Amino acid sequence: MRRLVTVHWLLITCLLVACVAPVTPPEKFSLITHPDGRLYVGDQVSFEVMMPSGFKPEGHEVQVSLGDKELGRAGFGPYGVAGRTEATLWWAWDTRDLQPGPETLTFTLLPDGLTWQETVTLQPQSGVPPPEPGAHWAVLTSDCCILNYITGTSAERDIASLAQIADEEAADLSARMDESLSEKIPLVFMPRVLGNGGFAGNAIYVSYLDNDYLGNATAQVLHHEFVHWFDTLAGGDLRPTIFQEGLAVYLSGGHFKPEPLIPRAAALLELHWYIPLRTLADEFYPQQHEIGYLEAAALVGYMVEAYGWKAFDAFYRDIHATPDGRDSQAIDTALQAHFGITFTELEGSYLELLKGQTAPADVRDDLRSSVQFYDTVCRYQQALDPSAYFMTAWLPDYMMMIQRGIVADFLRHPGGMDNRLIEAMLVNADHSLRAGEYDQAERTLKGVNVLLDVLRAYPNNGMQTSVCPALRTKVRVPEGFRIGTYSRKIKTFRRVCQPAGSSYFAVVMVASGYHYGQIPPPIKGAMIFVSQLKYGLHHNCR
Ligand SMILES: [Zn+2]
Repeated sequence: MRRLVTVHWLLITCLLVACVAPVTPPEKFSLITHPDGRLYVGDQVSFEVMMPSGFKPEGHEVQVSLGDKELGRAGFGPYGVAGRTEATLWWAWDTRDLQPGPETLTFTLLPDGLTWQETVTLQPQSGVPPPEPGAHWAVLTSDCCILNYITGTSAERDIASLAQIADEEAADLSARMDESLSEKIPLVFMPRVLGNGGFAGNAIYVSYLDNDYLGNATAQVLHHEFVHWFDTLAGGDLRPTIFQEGLAVYLSGGHFKPEPLIPRAAALLELHWYIPLRTLADEFYPQQHEIGYLEAAALVGYMVEAYGWKAFDAFYRDIHATPDGRDSQAIDTALQAHFGITFTELEGSYLELLKGQTAPADVRDDLRSSVQFYDTVCRYQQALDPSAYFMTAWLPDYMMMIQRGIVADFLRHPGGMDNRLIEAMLVNADHSLRAGEYDQAERTLKGVNVLLDVLRAYPNNGMQTSVCPALRTKVRVPEGFRIGTYSRKIKTFRRVCQPAGSSYFAVVMVASGYHYGQIPPPIKGAMIFVSQLKYGLHHNCR
């Protein structure tokens, strides 16, 4: 047992060491490079330069140079769903003619002339992880779609069945929304998780990989994104987000799996999570993801039930912006024109319907666990895979990637020990959730959150990474989740890992039934032993 405990210490300390943030703050400007993770000779490197708070970006550009050679320059502008202000230099640095080793890049703020430098180490091209360097873009055309994928990935292996799924989902929606395709839909299969697994833009981008911690719900995600595609084809004017997303979930019969939408929305009231509709309409994406989508979907379901599909569709496509720019006001105006009711009256009758429902216990438990799950995913992405976080996701244009022969931006993602362990735990939580094992799902999620707390508390604890090989020792631990003080080892841990004044005493991360070298998959029943650590899921993603 003593040896076992030692292994646990080593595991957690190594996890702490493994947390190397990809963001470097030079002179208060911070930088993210792409592709994620290590850079290799041959990479075409992009830069996101984020400004410090208080900086006024108007009229400024960032210039990036290597020695005397300017690699590129870009002004500051909003990026992503969040509209984060940054200067984005897409594939500005072609490294194919360089040697492995450190390179010093110079960043200059124009016209002020403020200059700072970043040193980036290029790894030898021979070390590029598989399926690179042979991986390249390929395409398959089906009835509905042009399926773009990268060779050597799960999508290539499963492309025939993916084409079949796409054709079925598209045919279903074409009939339900009475829209036919004049052109095939471009589909892009991404071998990494980005955002919540799907985006619709100039194409439909879908994450497709083995052990996807969002649950490999490909048909459901495709259906959802196809709704957005047909919805755009059907036209309209403002098409407020609350209805766009509500429609996508409603017509897909659930968000990430089939769900009873009205009873599930009724559970929102029991859990005191209901968001007033005006708030949801005006600020849809900043709301808790699962709650916002569910509430919107149930609202669409209620309106279709009350007024019929045709009347709802006519109303939805006849909403126009109002001078105050608020979606809630535009919806209010259109509701009065089409149905003779205000938005407040609509919400009143919607709430009446929900209050008249009794949410079954399993529906409520599923909702509660789902919200915790997506909050945890959101927290993980922000902390350890920021390019995946949907508000600021790194989502390159697939056509540009094909033209330039770039696959690394979709293939690589942070793969440190902490990423692998947490993603494996999320896979576990997702399996538990989908199997209706809500207690187990929540235990695992609690573990992930504790681990994220610890990683935040000790971003760099100065430990030697050379302890990591010891983790290859086989770990065998009992079932269950336990919280307690590990007094026997606490002295050692404190001396090594605990800064003075920290409230963290001891943390041991144990994953049961696995051999460290097998991460991932699968980790069954990951557990964390913590003393004097404040628990509670964080809702800072709402
Ligand atoms: Zn959507």
